[in-house]
Parts: sequence; C-alpha cells; structure tokens
Amino acid sequence: MDAAIDSALIPVERILLGPGPSPVPQRVLRALAAPTLGHLDPQYLAIMDRTCAMLRDVFRTKNPLTFPVSGTGMAGMECIAVNLLEPGDEAIVCVNGVFGTRMKDVVERCGATVHTVEATWGDVITLEQITAALAAHPKAKFVGIVHAETSTGAHQPLDGFADAVHASGALLVVDAVTSLGGHELRVDDWGIDAIYSGTQKCLSCPPGLSPVSFGPRALAVMDARKTKVQSWYLDVSMLRKYYTGGGGGGRVYHHTAPINMTYALHEALTIVLEEGLDARIERHAQMHRRLRAGLEAMGLRYIPKHSLHSLNCIGIPAGADDAGVRRRLLDEYGIEIGAGLGPMAGKAWRIGLMGHGSTVRNVDLVLTALRTILG
Ligand SMILES: *Cc1c(COP(=O)(O)O)cnc(C)c1O
Repeated sequence: MDAAIDSALIPVERILLGPGPSPVPQRVLRALAAPTLGHLDPQYLAIMDRTCAMLRDVFRTKNPLTFPVSGTGMAGMECIAVNLLEPGDEAIVCVNGVFGTRMKDVVERCGATVHTVEATWGDVITLEQITAALAAHPKAKFVGIVHAETSTGAHQPLDGFADAVHASGALLVVDAVTSLGGHELRVDDWGIDAIYSGTQKCLSCPPGLSPVSFGPRALAVMDARKTKVQSWYLDVSMLRKYYTGGGGGGRVYHHTAPINMTYALHEALTIVLEEGLDARIERHAQMHRRLRAGLEAMGLRYIPKHSLHSLNCIGIPAGADDAGVRRRLLDEYGIEIGAGLGPMAGKAWRIGLMGHGSTVRNVDLVLTALRTILG
C-alpha cells in the first residue's frame, strides 16, 4: 500500500466491552492533544501534583507516596514487588486466575520464595486460607492478592485481611487494576499497604500509566532495604524525588514523565470526581444488574459466585461458536468482548462494563446483539 495513504488510516471506533481497554471519553482524548511541556516545567508539575492529589481521592488514601508509574498495570505490579522484596524474602501470593499467576511469577523474579494460596478459577480466597498460610509461613513479609480478577470475573472480598496480615508483621499488597473507579475500594480504611491499578479499565483513560500508592508500613520496609532495587527504572527511592519532590533536593530528573498521558489521566480523574466516586460505583452496580438480568433471561450463566460489576464472565452456551460469535459482534455491531483465558479458554465470554462503557445504551446493545446472534 502507498505509504501516504497508509499513514492516513484512522481506526474505526469500537464499543469496547472487553477486559480493557474501556471506551475513552472525548474530553480525555482532547486532553491528550494539549501542548507537550517539559517534565520540570512548573505548569506541568502543577498538573502532576493535582493528578496525584486526585489519585489519593480515588484510592481513598492520604498516602503522600501516590503517583502514576510510567507503564501499564503490569509495571505497577512490578514496581511494588521489586521495591518491597529482596532476594531471600518470603512472600504469600493468592492465585485464582491469570493475574495472581502473574504476580507469583513477578515476585519469584525478585528472588523471593513464594508460598501460594490457591482457589479454583472463578472462586475467591477466604480469610481462613490467609490466616493458615501466615501461620505456616510466619516469615512472609508480603501478601499479594487480586481484588478484581479480570480473567475470571471474581470479586475478592478483603474484610479482615489487613488485620490478619499485619498481626503477622507482613504487608498487604492489592491488585486493583479492574476495581479502581468502578468498585468500592478504600485503601486507608481497609489497611492496604501497597496498591496498583491501571488507567484503561474503570478510569476510562488510554493504557499507559499505572497509579500506585504506598502506605507507611511499605515505606518503612523500603527504607530498611539492605540491597538496591534491581530495577533501575522502577526504583521508588529515586522516583519519589521526582513525584513528591521529597528527599530534600527538590524535583530531580529520573526519566521523562509521559507528559500527555498525564494530561489524559488528569482529565479522566476529573471526570470520575465530577460524577462522584459513590455515584460511579453505584452506576457500575446498576449496569451489572441490568446486564445480568438480561443474560440470565437468555439462559446464560455467570461463572463466578462473587461477580465483579466491571467484568461479567459467563459460560458459553452449548452449541455456540466462541470465536464466531465474538467475530460477528465485532464485525456487525462494532462490539468487542473478551474470550476466556487459561482453563476458561473456549468456555467463557468476558463482558466488561468499565467506566465510560458502563451505560444503559451499551448494556442493551450487547444484549440485543447477543440475542440476535445466538438466535
Ligand atoms: C489488566 C490487568 C492487569 C495488567 O494491566 P496491563 O495494563 O495490561 O499491564 C493486571 N491486573 C489485572 C487484574 C488486570 O485486569
């Protein structure tokens, strides 16, 4: 193809009802197009400071060390693991889906010994399992768990987890990539020590940043490290000098912050707070119930017992052609939904109702499309 024509290609808009990214509001896309500034320009630093302040509101935390890591959700996961763990440490990681499996891998790469707490995919981890694991491994200093397991649609309750983890002297680390901005999540009230998320799920911003927050216990663990963080890029002892201006020397260059992505996140968070966190969480709950009622009326069944509102994981009905149905949704309706992963490959569909995508219009559209295609 002619290069000039090729470079003029513009993607056709889709209705993103998969496991992420979610639909991005025009306001956020416009924010991306604002003039690029220098990363030490006072105008930009003010935007970054406001972005971090809004992240604190959305995480419901007062943690001063709350900022967007440059990179997607996986970068946030790695950032927390590499900073909190040193070679030879012990960690407990809960595994009941793709992201718990990945966390185990990431933690092992830090040189830590991992003890897993497992549940069948689609099920959640119980407090009793955590207590038993802490009793069996009293030296574990890190307990990692996924709040919203996007691969299975399971919504992990966290009541009582922090008390158990802290009583054993460990840190509670939470993956909130698919819950932040869509589900009830209270970092300070729930005693979460370190948490990471992503921009492209319930915040409805393009992928590219990973909001993280570190509480006082996590800071103390980082300050007591005996070894250097093995990742230069994700070393919080250096990053915090830029993001918080802390460390005495003021703001210093570490890496060039993704300037325009920060504008996008700033706008996305502004939209979240304009709607109000409680109202937004309630909207996600209502849209989940509306979708669920429609799917169940068609005879479709949810796989997890505790379903997320942001991600609906349903069994593929007997006789339906998995890839064929998803292809028709995309080609005929412009709707993207997700396939099953791991043991659920070929057995599940994942319908995301995240952020800007969680609307009556989208719920009714995907229900109508599925009803038509499945006949
Ligand atoms: C999407 C997701 C991630 C990874 O985020 P990326 O932005 O794809 O790197 C991690 N954890 C969960 C639960 C997710 O849904």
